[in-house]
Amino acid sequence: MKGFIYKISQDDKCYYGSTVRDPIIRLKEHERHSKYNLPNLTKSEILFNNYDFPPLFKIIAEVEFENIQDLKDIEYYYIEKDNTCVNVARKPDPNGVWVKNKLRMQLYRKSKTYDCECGCKINYFSRNKHLVTKKHFKLLNKKIEENKKKICTVIL
Ligand SMILES: [Zn+2]
Repeated sequence: MKGFIYKISQDDKCYYGSTVRDPIIRLKEHERHSKYNLPNLTKSEILFNNYDFPPLFKIIAEVEFENIQDLKDIEYYYIEKDNTCVNVARKPDPNGVWVKNKLRMQLYRKSKTYDCECGCKINYFSRNKHLVTKKHFKLLNKKIEENKKKICTVIL
């Protein structure tokens, strides 16, 4: 697989990240998280919110790897050697901040539900995925059929 290590930076602070997706999409995500102050695993929002100018975004390495951990290890390498970086997601340890943040994030995501027109209660973050599932269309069609029947009964 191919992945990227990127750096988001201001004069005195920076953030390192890795992604297997289009780095620009990842940057947009960072921007969005910063703008709406979503709980984030990273501290990258500082670089967007605490300065007069938007941060610089730079891809610093393109990595070929077999295991995603290899990509993470390279990211950690940059994080460890740069003392201006604001990253909190360092090497995961079972009792550490990293894991706590991850759990907090999962709880937050679970707490945000969305009532779909098909009748499903779904996780806010999986809404877009849900809207194209068979289950959604099946339930929606069933609802439409039921409404048709009701209307027909009234007319007859
Ligand atoms: Zn639905």
